[in-house]
Amino acid sequence: RLMITLITVLVYLLPSFAKSSESTKVITLPKSLNLTLLTDPSTISTASHDYGNVTTVTPGGVLCPSSSAEISRLLRYAANGETIFQVAARGQGHSLNGQASVSGGVVINMTCLADITVSEDKEYADVAGGTLWVDVLRETAEQGVSPVSWTDYLHISVGGTLSNAGIGGQMFRNGPQISNVLELDVITGKGETLACSPQLNPELFYGVLGGLGQFGIITRARIVLNHAPKRAKWFKMLYSDFTAFTKDQESLISMNNDTGVDYVEGQLLMSNGIVDTSFFPPSDQSKVADLVKNHSIIYVLEVAKYYDDPTVPTTGQVIDKLTKTLSYLPGFISMHDVPYFDFLNRVQAEEDKLRSLALWEVPHPWLNLYVPKTQILDFHNGVVKDILLKQNSTSGVALFYPTNRNKWDNRMSAMIPDEDVFYVVGLLQSASSQNVQEVESVNEAIIRFCKDSGIKIKQYLMHFTRKEDWVGHFGSKWGAFSKRKDLFDPKKLLSPGQDIF
Ligand code: FAD
Repeated sequence: RLMITLITVLVYLLPSFAKSSESTKVITLPKSLNLTLLTDPSTISTASHDYGNVTTVTPGGVLCPSSSAEISRLLRYAANGETIFQVAARGQGHSLNGQASVSGGVVINMTCLADITVSEDKEYADVAGGTLWVDVLRETAEQGVSPVSWTDYLHISVGGTLSNAGIGGQMFRNGPQISNVLELDVITGKGETLACSPQLNPELFYGVLGGLGQFGIITRARIVLNHAPKRAKWFKMLYSDFTAFTKDQESLISMNNDTGVDYVEGQLLMSNGIVDTSFFPPSDQSKVADLVKNHSIIYVLEVAKYYDDPTVPTTGQVIDKLTKTLSYLPGFISMHDVPYFDFLNRVQAEEDKLRSLALWEVPHPWLNLYVPKTQILDFHNGVVKDILLKQNSTSGVALFYPTNRNKWDNRMSAMIPDEDVFYVVGLLQSASSQNVQEVESVNEAIIRFCKDSGIKIKQYLMHFTRKEDWVGHFGSKWGAFSKRKDLFDPKKLLSPGQDIF
């Protein structure tokens, strides 16, 4: 507790860390456009920063659109007008390196256009691009339905996650969020509004999914819905053996709906990090802490089984199997029985806790990787044991779980490894302005290690500053990606903060 208080005070007192250039250029639009740009210092300051808290990218104005027609007008003007300026859509600005801002250009605050309409047959919802997933959940669940694929955190926007992928513990069965979209309305870099789907304008549809905001602004997404279960039985089990842990995770993601669980993730607890034992009953918490101390690394398997009626036999059978056939350390299992909404919105409690400690708005030098299954042991030995565990301290969460490639469509822009099963590794570190560079150099060492050892990782939520890194990232899809840029945003106006073109 004393340590947390000390860190809190330190972080609070330190000035925020900024490494990007700032611009003071203010954009003036002709009256005939009938668009109001906000340029007050508070709005500009908010739009200049993001969750990563390591960059400052200052726009010349912010548009809070009252309709998608306003976005189209702005983009037509930017594409054809005398004054050239670039444009970035911004959801919640939960990017890490300035991807949702634009130096001297216009940021569009997409949250001004939030809206959800559930179809009559409840098969899908039409959702405005700036809507937060937490609101999609609230609205759909009230009507007994729900999207099927979720990110861990729900206070992020539909357009923002669809521009990346939207990954989480349900995607082994249902695919990422980008695999659960039927149709989109997109405003291209030329200001045209186009509906697109696998049948209509497919080039734009697949390009935009995971397209890092490069081809158009998503103003509407048609999201697949299914039945919303009432509750979730949410388990965490501890392992000291990495092979047993991954074997159980891989077996769980290979099971079908009836015999398996609905959500599979995992985390690492390391003796040089903050060990959160709060999921376990108070009587077990010191045992969990000792376990981590004794083994240096403990692996947490996290699963959930949804249900409506506790008396239906399949729920009990799945749970029986979980407790009997998985090889976690005997006794180290804890279960919470929670409403479906609370389970999906579980990171909210973490946010509240961190905010109360002034630890939410700190630098976040996160590293998110996809690692092929056949190389996960080498990755574990070289990165987790030989790099992370050798640091004096680590902070934040380390996610570690496998998923299935067959739920992704290769026509989408999002990039993943070639193997049928790959792991999501999220090293979600919090830092202070003093040690952020140190964490960033550890991240670089991890990337270097993977490269030198031939581990074929792909990065997620990445930020490359060199063109060759982008070309390497997209590999054989680079040609198609740049062609789509020429087609839909030839003046290269959109989301320049991604630093691709
Ligand atoms: P922004 O950061 O505002 O934008 C992201 C990019 O998309 C920018 O380039 C922006 O210009 C572009 N963009 C935004 N809106 C649109 C639009 N309507 N049309 C076109 N382009 C647009 N991600 C996961 O996949 N899984 C997780 O479990 C997960 N957990 C997270 C937990 C936390 C605590 C945080 C902070 C983030 C997490 N994320 C996760 C990352 C999240 O997906 C990204 O931050 C993502 O960028 C969405 O955030 P946002 O809506 O604020 O988008």
